[in-house]
Amino acid sequence: MSTPWPPLRAELQGIEPYGAPQLDLPVQLNVNENPYGPSPEVVADIASAVAAAASTLNRYPDREFTELRAGLAAYLNTDGGNAITPEMVWAANGSNEVMLQLLQAFGGPDRTALSFAPTYSMYPEYARDSNTTWVVGHREDDFSLDLDHARDLIRQHRPHVVLLPSPNNPTGTALSPEVVGVLCEELGEGLLVVDEAYGEFRRSGTPSALELLPTHRNLIVSRTMSKAFALAGARLGYLAAAREICDAIRVVRLPYHLSAVTQATALAALRHAPELLGKVDELRLERDACVVWLREQGLQVAESDANFALFGTFEDRHAVWQGLVERGVLIRETGPDGWLRVSIGTADEMTAFKNALTEVMKEIN
Ligand code: PMP
Repeated sequence: MSTPWPPLRAELQGIEPYGAPQLDLPVQLNVNENPYGPSPEVVADIASAVAAAASTLNRYPDREFTELRAGLAAYLNTDGGNAITPEMVWAANGSNEVMLQLLQAFGGPDRTALSFAPTYSMYPEYARDSNTTWVVGHREDDFSLDLDHARDLIRQHRPHVVLLPSPNNPTGTALSPEVVGVLCEELGEGLLVVDEAYGEFRRSGTPSALELLPTHRNLIVSRTMSKAFALAGARLGYLAAAREICDAIRVVRLPYHLSAVTQATALAALRHAPELLGKVDELRLERDACVVWLREQGLQVAESDANFALFGTFEDRHAVWQGLVERGVLIRETGPDGWLRVSIGTADEMTAFKNALTEVMKEIN
């Protein structure tokens, strides 16, 4: 038998690379970005920080990104963190890279990672790429996590890493700190990664898992500048955890993985945090209004603490997605069968989405 070319690992053959369809449509509500771009002042500050970094690009960047770690720690202490120090922060090119590094360091052959579906579809990919055994439990009909089921799976598989987004993607479901605390206890030496990529969009009264860091040394809270911070293009994700965990990740990171340009951009953005995060309240209101409107159309909508809403169910969700595409609106065909996910955009974009969906629903009924 001839070997396929190129000689890809057997388990990777025939797999499509992960990614949402990139279509050039006027209303982009498919990858949970922040619809608001930076102001001219922020653009100018980022540009001058990058210009300063450019003058030393013959040198490698600060491998330990010391200033950036301090900036991220200070920010986290304003959003649920309690005495987080720079040594308790780690960063990489997007939180996808942060979590891959976590599995490279704490997963691997003869080790197990666990999550609960439906959930973020990159998790099994981190497991596959780090040769970690992947175990997946289920969520309830309302997409919440059943604590007994979670405990049972932990006892059965003794996972080295549990990946739990809060809010969850694609459902928007948040975890309570009580659940996080119980799972940390149950895991013993295993690590619990609470992926708070959408943490800043949580509804008031839903605390961040950051609060539990001082009491659980096996807790890791992952964040990103891609969503609430409106900086998806810069690729900066980070985590907060015990200092020993951050030190251990340094063993698997590639040297100088955060470029001088990335560090300068992220630091400049942090200086403008209040402005960049300024649209979060507006997006939350827009989300809540979108959920109400979708329910008024007779649809089911998952409770959301994020900047998107999962709605359905449709007999032929692809036809609905396609109908929206034909009207210039791009959303995401993801989640359980029959459901669709819409990211929250500007008021005008949401009006365009609602008008298009009304037309499509008339057409299919
Ligand atoms: N976690 C979750 C739950 C996500 O939805 C995403 C992005 N869609 C990420 C992590 C990764 O985001 P980034 O790499 O841009 O930080």
